[in-house]
Amino acid sequence: MLINIFSFRPEELESRLKEHFPAFRYRQLMHWLYEKLVFDPQQMTDLPASMKTFLFRNFSFILPQIDAVQTADDGTAKYRLRLEDGMVIEMVLMPNDKKRTLCVSSQVGCARACAFCATGKMGLKRNLQVHEIVGQILLAASICQPQRLSNLVFMGMGEPLDNLDSVLASLRIIQAENSLTFSPRRTTVSSCGLPEQIRQLADSKVRTKLAISLNSAIDAKRDILMPVNKAHPLPELKRALIYYLNKVNYKVTFEYILIPEVNMGAQDIKALKRFVGDLSCNINFIPYNSVPGLLYHSPSDQEIEGFLSRAQVLNQPITLRRSKGAGILGACGQLAGT
Ligand code: SF4
Repeated sequence: MLINIFSFRPEELESRLKEHFPAFRYRQLMHWLYEKLVFDPQQMTDLPASMKTFLFRNFSFILPQIDAVQTADDGTAKYRLRLEDGMVIEMVLMPNDKKRTLCVSSQVGCARACAFCATGKMGLKRNLQVHEIVGQILLAASICQPQRLSNLVFMGMGEPLDNLDSVLASLRIIQAENSLTFSPRRTTVSSCGLPEQIRQLADSKVRTKLAISLNSAIDAKRDILMPVNKAHPLPELKRALIYYLNKVNYKVTFEYILIPEVNMGAQDIKALKRFVGDLSCNINFIPYNSVPGLLYHSPSDQEIEGFLSRAQVLNQPITLRRSKGAGILGACGQLAGT
C-alpha cells in the first residue's frame, strides 16, 4: 500500500526525493502541495513526467472527501468528511473579517464521555492518522483561498492528547518552513486534562498553545461533567499545568462552559479563583450549546451577565466566547457526524 504523502515531514520527503531528483524538484513539489494547494501531480505543470510517475508509484495523495457542508448565518461552515475506510469526521471553519479559524478533529469519536458533549456520546471509533489531520488543514486552507487559513484549534472531534503522537507529527509538518509555516502561536491544542500527556507535550520540541476544558474547579462536579476527572482529579491536573508553564512560554487557556444550575454559582466562582489564582492563564467562558438528547440547557443573557459580573473577582483575563455555528450543530461540544 502506498504511503500518504501528507504524513511525511518535509525533511523526510526531501531525503526520499533527493536520491532520484535534484534538490530544486523537492522545493517545486512542496510549493505545489503547501503553497499553491494543488494536490494532484498531474496538475503540477513544471514537474517532469518522470517525477510524476515516481510520485504516483510511491505515494498516495488522498485527502478526506467532503461529504456534506452546512453553513450557519454567521458564516461558520461545518464539513462532514469521509475517510478512506468510510468513517466520518467533522471539521468546522469559522471565518471573520480578520481571521479564518479551523476547528480540526483528532479522532473519530472520543472515549472521554464528557456529559455535555455530543462527540463523547459516540464513543471512540479510532484515532486519526497524521495525513488525516494534515488533510483537514490542507482542505481548509484550500477553501480559504485566496485568503490564508490563519488559526488552528484542535477542538473538533476527539481528545487530541489521546492521539498525541499523530497530533505532534501533524504540527511538525504544518509548522515546517517548506510547508504551511504555521506559527505555533496560531495553533491551540485543547484537552480535557490528561496530566501525563500534558507533561509529554511540554517535553516535546513542538510548540503550541494549550487550552484545558475545565468547566468546574470542584472535583465532585467535574467528576460528573468530565469522567476523566475521577482518574485525574484537579490537584493532579494543576501539578501538570505548573510543569507545562515552567517549560513553555505561553499562557494556558481555560475553557469553561457555562451551564445553568450546574457550574454558575458563587461556590463555583470561589473554587475557580482558588484553582486559577496562581497560574499564568486566560479564561474563556462559553455559554453552553444545547445538544439533542442531553440534559443541560443554555444560559439566558441575564444569567451570563450575572455570572460575568461575579467572575470579576478572579483577577485573571476573562473573555466570553460565544460559540459559532450553534445553528448547524457545529459549535463546541456539538460535533457528532450528523
Ligand atoms: S469534550 Fe472533548 S474530551 Fe470531552 S467527550 Fe467531547 S471531544 Fe471528548
